[in-house]
Amino acid sequence: MNTASDTTSPTLTILGNRAGSPGPDGPASSYLIESEHGRLVVDLGGGSLPGLLPHLAERLDGIIISHRHADHSVDLVAFAYHRSFPTVQPPITLYGPSGIAAYVAELDAVHGIPTIEEMRTPIATQFPPVDIEPGSSFDVAGTRIDTIRAAHAVPCLSMRFPQFGLVYTADTALTDDLIALAAGAPVLLAEATYPGSAGRDLTTHGHMSGTEAGILAREAGVAHLILTHLSDYADAEETVTNAHAEFGGTITVARVGDRHDLPGRLT
Ligand SMILES: [Zn+2]
Ligand SMILES: [Zn+2]
Repeated sequence: MNTASDTTSPTLTILGNRAGSPGPDGPASSYLIESEHGRLVVDLGGGSLPGLLPHLAERLDGIIISHRHADHSVDLVAFAYHRSFPTVQPPITLYGPSGIAAYVAELDAVHGIPTIEEMRTPIATQFPPVDIEPGSSFDVAGTRIDTIRAAHAVPCLSMRFPQFGLVYTADTALTDDLIALAAGAPVLLAEATYPGSAGRDLTTHGHMSGTEAGILAREAGVAHLILTHLSDYADAEETVTNAHAEFGGTITVARVGDRHDLPGRLT
């Protein structure tokens, strides 16, 4: 599906949509946001690099990693190798929650190649990291990103892109702070790791199901809910049914290759 109809609108392209690991339905989490301000990749989960490569004819202005879990970050390693060998390419700034610089150092300690000068610290060299304190805002190439600390097992950023009318939950339980972050969003890209929450303690686990994603969309008054980060896309219909039980607006399941217009704005 390609919902893009106005080439001047910012767009959101789904590069990866799965929780946990890449699978037959596509790579783990990864999203490309393109606008007149620049081009950003949000998350680089396992298997997402091949889908990103065709989009690299134009420069990327930044990479944002919501958190260090492999289904959001592990292809940083593959991408750093790709940009280091055989030809070294210009660096791209990497933004992530507090601790991302330490995580990059850990990745380099494991994946650096001491016998090749350009690849001693490939991840830090290619992606100089910037720690973002959850709750703060930052700018990438003219794009403002507001964040809150997600309710997740490790430091994680839920993000609001006011210029694009977009909110991305990343991995998180449903919280009042998340509802406030998503308030009035034209497009909400929300995780729904499980189809429903019955029998699961998702609050301490730090995830949502279709049910919580629907409650979030309703309480925040969003227009369009895009469900992503499903554990198993065989559950997509049940996940949408549970979300629709809570939310009467438009619901779409994120599919790899989908491109959505982002014509709205937030203040
Ligand atoms: Zn995840
Ligand atoms: Zn996670």
